[in-house]
Amino acid sequence: MSDSVQPIPAEVARRIRIVILDVDGVMTDGGVYLGATESGEPVELKRFDIQDGLGIRLLKEAGIIVSIVTGRESHAVRLRGAELDLDEVHQDKKAAKLRIVTEMLERNGMDWTEAAFVGDDLPDLPILRRVGLPAVVGNATPDARACASWRATKEGGRGAVREFAEALLTARGEWAERVEAYVSDREAGL
Ligand SMILES: [Mg+2]
Repeated sequence: MSDSVQPIPAEVARRIRIVILDVDGVMTDGGVYLGATESGEPVELKRFDIQDGLGIRLLKEAGIIVSIVTGRESHAVRLRGAELDLDEVHQDKKAAKLRIVTEMLERNGMDWTEAAFVGDDLPDLPILRRVGLPAVVGNATPDARACASWRATKEGGRGAVREFAEALLTARGEWAERVEAYVSDREAGL
């Protein structure tokens, strides 16, 4: 793909029924804080972006399924997935992301053209090569970038997922409507 950011074609965007997100380097900046409690129990912390979270919420409100697939297991991901009320959260230490996504699509009765995936690095290539809308964060590795049809200007964990959500909903002609629905809900105190 070229280095400039291209809008997502409307016909591609309108086909998307599921958005699948990698976690490390996409929903986070790729850093992990490793530590331990006094009793020696390991603790792993990650930093998530609140603006990304609202973008995910608006995708869901537009009727799009949003799921996480990561090759690293942590309680932090479970917490964030629950907080965002994500449809599916898959953590697989063997990084068998392709199998997981294939099964997820089958379960939901969807084909690859109806899926968007946001990734950043080599474990994401098998999925980026198959989905209808392969997207990467601004600081994705060169191999991941080469597979993508859309790239964020923002980096992973720093608004890239929000940028993607806005680009997708804008391409579908739904962004302004979703923003107004969100504002109306706030005004109504819901
Ligand atoms: Mg990653």
